Amino acid sequence: MRVRKGPAMNEVTAKRIAEFIAPLRVRPGAKVKLGKDFDPRYKADFLKKKDGRELLRTGISLLAEYQRRLAAQNSHGVLMCLQALDAGGKDGTIRHVMSGVNPQGVQVHNFKVPSTEELDHDYLWRYACRLPERGEIGIFNRSHYEEVLVVRVHPEHLVRQKLPPEAKGKDVWERRYREINDWERYLTDNGFHVVKLFLNLSKEEQRIRFLKRIDVPDRNWKFSAADVREREYWDDYQVAFSEMLSGTSTSWAPWYVIPADRKWFARICAAAIMVHTLIDIDPQYPTVSAEARADLLDVRKRLEKEAPKGAAADPYEKKIAAHKRAG
Ligand code: ATP
Ligand code: MG
Repeated sequence: MRVRKGPAMNEVTAKRIAEFIAPLRVRPGAKVKLGKDFDPRYKADFLKKKDGRELLRTGISLLAEYQRRLAAQNSHGVLMCLQALDAGGKDGTIRHVMSGVNPQGVQVHNFKVPSTEELDHDYLWRYACRLPERGEIGIFNRSHYEEVLVVRVHPEHLVRQKLPPEAKGKDVWERRYREINDWERYLTDNGFHVVKLFLNLSKEEQRIRFLKRIDVPDRNWKFSAADVREREYWDDYQVAFSEMLSGTSTSWAPWYVIPADRKWFARICAAAIMVHTLIDIDPQYPTVSAEARADLLDVRKRLEKEAPKGAAADPYEKKIAAHKRAG
């Protein structure tokens, strides 16, 4: 995947990115069985770890350029939802993939066990309060999908939500899938693209990462005994994830299942999916009207006249011309 330098994305690159991420997308309507359908160790054949670093750098700089345009155009927003089991690599993915973008255009929100105030509202309320603005990229580190994952695996969370009897029947998960799909459709229709990434980790790789957090003192803070207790529910989570992927991968907001056992590959996938989304939006720097442009040229003349003796009237003129010549 070679990328042409410069702000414009050529069609070949766009197509290659689309092909690269296609095997990760959950086809809307597909019935997913995680263990069978997605391999946490998968990686694209053509890619080696040593080439991966360069590719990630390219992805990061493309993201930075697109984010500047997204902010300038100020009509669309992007919401990236990251889901994973503990040690799946959510934090590292955010740190690497977003490392090149202007922090002013990105907001990250972590979602933990809901507060009493949050439980006093409908279950999507706290997520709606943290949506990105137009021109921004919002990242949900865990997201509204916890409402059909941890809440499903541990029904005591549902009890704490104080739902009326008619809202907690047997069909509660199917209903939540529909409500989430409708909410995401509403967001998409109004210019907010929803990008959903599931970092798919194997049970063995989770065991190894937990051990690393115990063995390396600088990583001890990352480890919590609660994570090991949660690991006992591994199979329940696999079922909850599979049903969530089957029920909520839609044409307007599809799920991507990212193989997460190789961190370097997972990061490239996440960057590629984000770039793909932004190519789709194709934000542009706004241009000014002919009238406004004429006013600018007028002001320029006045500023040129103010140049001190010996100084170039417009030092940028030369630089821009040289830049254009360099192509
Ligand atoms: P890290 O461990 O990397 O700091 P984390 O996202 O695992 O990040 P923790 O504070 O360890 O953060 O865990 C947050 C916990 O909150 C998770 O166990 C998650 O399942 C739980 N949680 C998130 N949303 C909900 C929810 N709506 N209801 C109940 N529990 C939730
Ligand atoms: Mg945790």
